[in-house]
Amino acid sequence: MKKNTVVICGAGLCGTLLAIRLAQKGCQVTLIEKRPDMRKASIAAGRSINLALSNRGLRALDLVGIKEEVLKTCIPMKGRMIHTTDGMQRFSHYSGREQHHINSVPRGGLNMTLLDKAETYENIKIYFETPCKTIELSDDCVQVVLGDGAFTKVLTPDVVIGTDGAGSAVRKSLEVTHQLAVSQSFLSHGYKELTIPPGPDGGFLLDQHALHIWPRGKFMVIALPNPDGSFTVTAFFPNEGPDSFAFLDSEERVTAFFEQYFAELIPYCPDYLNDFFKNPVGRLGTISCAPWQVGGRIVLMGDAAHAIVPFYGQGMNASFEDVVVFDELYDKHNGDWSTVIEAFSQKRKPDADAIAALALDNFHEMQDHVIHPGFVKKRQLEMQLEKNYDDYHSKYSLVTFCEQIPYSVAKALGRKQDQLLLELCTNEEESIELDTVMKKLAVLKADYLL
Ligand SMILES: Cc1cc2nc3c(=O)[nH]c(=O)nc-3n(C[C@H](O)[C@H](O)[C@H](O)COP(=O)(O)OP(=O)(O)OC[C@H]3O[C@@H](n4cnc5c(N)ncnc54)[C@H](O)[C@@H]3O)c2cc1C
Repeated sequence: MKKNTVVICGAGLCGTLLAIRLAQKGCQVTLIEKRPDMRKASIAAGRSINLALSNRGLRALDLVGIKEEVLKTCIPMKGRMIHTTDGMQRFSHYSGREQHHINSVPRGGLNMTLLDKAETYENIKIYFETPCKTIELSDDCVQVVLGDGAFTKVLTPDVVIGTDGAGSAVRKSLEVTHQLAVSQSFLSHGYKELTIPPGPDGGFLLDQHALHIWPRGKFMVIALPNPDGSFTVTAFFPNEGPDSFAFLDSEERVTAFFEQYFAELIPYCPDYLNDFFKNPVGRLGTISCAPWQVGGRIVLMGDAAHAIVPFYGQGMNASFEDVVVFDELYDKHNGDWSTVIEAFSQKRKPDADAIAALALDNFHEMQDHVIHPGFVKKRQLEMQLEKNYDDYHSKYSLVTFCEQIPYSVAKALGRKQDQLLLELCTNEEESIELDTVMKKLAVLKADYLL
């Protein structure tokens, strides 16, 4: 008998998108969410309130038919605006191709749009304030135990999908009962959110079509625009040691620190002290686990399977892309769940590992490398190549704009390209002739079926 009842644990970004897609395929979906309905209650997010949405995520939204609706709420960002310590601003395009940009999207608004869409399907039932506690699998039955404290309820669907985020209860349950191997590594940096409010006329105080970065070597601040004219600012500082969140424990210290490193930012952030002491420090980590599935009936997806650090702006995009890959495999294997689930786990894991590694690379690039002359020259060369040659894509473009290319290929090819171009750009002797560079790049590309 074809199995068709699915419980999805976690009505965040990935789980709600997946629920819609499976409902479109005719499955009976129960979507379980620990928190209250965010459309009715105001939820203090404690994490980035806007996210960079790019091609991989857009492709997934297109699959369920809400791409255009979401794009209306986005602000295009065409590149990075680098704010140097001498108060200068330098714009660096994300791509040499005019049409390529990333999008700042409000996290809450996007989740609400997905929930609204999910509710239009009769075959999706959503339960808020209903945490998933554990998952139990026996030979003939999978049980989802819901609730906490005195209240519990047990569901017995055909399939369970854990999309309950980085702290996944589904993953923890499988770790205990099925020896899932889980590794978590946290950065020595954390993050805190501040705000740049809209200007007096409701407009933007900084260029709205850029992702702003204040790179300071060992730490940095970034800002993404919101549709109301404000910017969400995220400070990434070390957790311990000098110039760390632990050190910045008094108004005097925070003021002195910001005046020393971010003097130019202070006039835009009049409430930074208040924000600094009000908002929590978030942790930044990579979570990797294997296998992602148990018995062809329970599978992890999104951050529950592969939480990554946010420096490539790809965590949500990768989680959305999981749904695209799952959808393709569902069709390919004619809805045979155990084959789909096993194929998904195997196919997707190398790509999740690749974007996790790239996101860590970008941590160093954003806070430090972006101001080095060799790196700046390399970015300029990349722009020239993208402007002049259709078949060249920088590593950033491979990851962000080439949604048909798996992350694992983007990582391998992108890193080789980077190495070659950096060598050319740091070697003063060598004059850079674009056609010659393209010939060298073609040799690298020949290793990949693109
Ligand atoms: C500072 C920061 C900046 C980021 N910036 C970007 C960016 O620019 N671009 C990008 O692509 N990604 C970004 N990300 C990553 C992105 O936020 C995540 O990858 C994305 O939210 C993952 O979606 P998800 O649905 O898997 O998990 P989540 O969004 O975490 O959703 C999980 C859901 O499960 C629910 N839940 C948890 N436990 C249970 C339970 N026991 N039972 C039932 N429900 C439960 C939660 O309440 C939540 O609704 C950023 C992350 C951080 C921390």
